[in-house]
Amino acid sequence: MRLRWVFIFLLSYILLQFSWWTYLLIDLNNENVRLRYSAAGNNEVEKQVLAQKLNQRHWMVIGEGSVFLLLLVSGGIITYRSFNKEFQLARQQKNFLLSVTHEYKSPLASIKLMLETLLKHDIEKEKRNTLIKSAINDADRLNALVENALLAASIEQHTYRFNLEAVDVSKVVSELVYTFQSNPDRKHHIETDIEHHVEMKADAFAFSLLLNNLLENAAKYSPAGTLIKVELKKSVPGKIILRVADQGIGISDSDKVKIFDKFYRAGNEETRSTKGTGLGLYIAKHIAEYHHGKITVSNNLPKGSVFEVTF
Ligand code: ATP
Ligand code: MG
Repeated sequence: MRLRWVFIFLLSYILLQFSWWTYLLIDLNNENVRLRYSAAGNNEVEKQVLAQKLNQRHWMVIGEGSVFLLLLVSGGIITYRSFNKEFQLARQQKNFLLSVTHEYKSPLASIKLMLETLLKHDIEKEKRNTLIKSAINDADRLNALVENALLAASIEQHTYRFNLEAVDVSKVVSELVYTFQSNPDRKHHIETDIEHHVEMKADAFAFSLLLNNLLENAAKYSPAGTLIKVELKKSVPGKIILRVADQGIGISDSDKVKIFDKFYRAGNEETRSTKGTGLGLYIAKHIAEYHHGKITVSNNLPKGSVFEVTF
């Protein structure tokens, strides 16, 4: 914050200085010409030349001064903007670290607890199976988190190798929705409308990560018991549409563009009740783009959000 004020102060100081020197230069020129004017006595020709010269110099100072001013102001604005961006990123990064640590810790803690319970107590088979399934789910959650973070890092460093091949994405979507639904912790109804045998050149892993992020969000930002709709369709010439619609809290218009930024999470860090790292949609957008797709978000009616990826 302090640095920002220092920057504004410096820039204002430079601008003031600059105006002052321009004024001085013009004044000095006037003075100079005035002296030579009186020295010229009755020589009208020289006086005329002097007046012309003065006029030319004025225009030179004004012209060059304006260009310099323009450069200075644009430079200032560009610097200020990138300054602000860095600032915001640094803050989000801090929040990210906090939430990541928390996010990773809770499934780990519950897996540990379940393993300890299994070890210490003689538990009947049915209950034991439930515990083991729960532990597997937690491990899956942890795995998804790690995969997200790793993928975000390798996307950033351009080291992720997308392995494009003909994939039956209908199968990928159906399987993922099935796995998603079979988790006993889920509290949402999922309705699907999946066209059969939709094929496209895709990286199956990245594609399912993209859908998983959209599904996780739909569940995370909607009250329990509401409906999530997943659609996959072929549309006009060669296009494929993947759509995830929820009936949740929705996204404000000003946030609609920002949510795809790295680490961005809507709302205020203190008041926010959900957990997350702000990486999900950043990755989803990159994966969509890599598949020559475009991801958009709009309002669902009467409430909620619709995420649509067009490939
Ligand atoms: P994670 O990295 O764990 O996915 P996250 O869910 O917070 O964390 P993103 O998936 O990138 O991060 O989403 C960014 C933000 O967009 C969320 O914090 C949330 O505010 C908003 N958002 C995303 N999906 C929805 C949705 N379906 N409904 C309402 N808000 C959403
Ligand atoms: Mg998310």
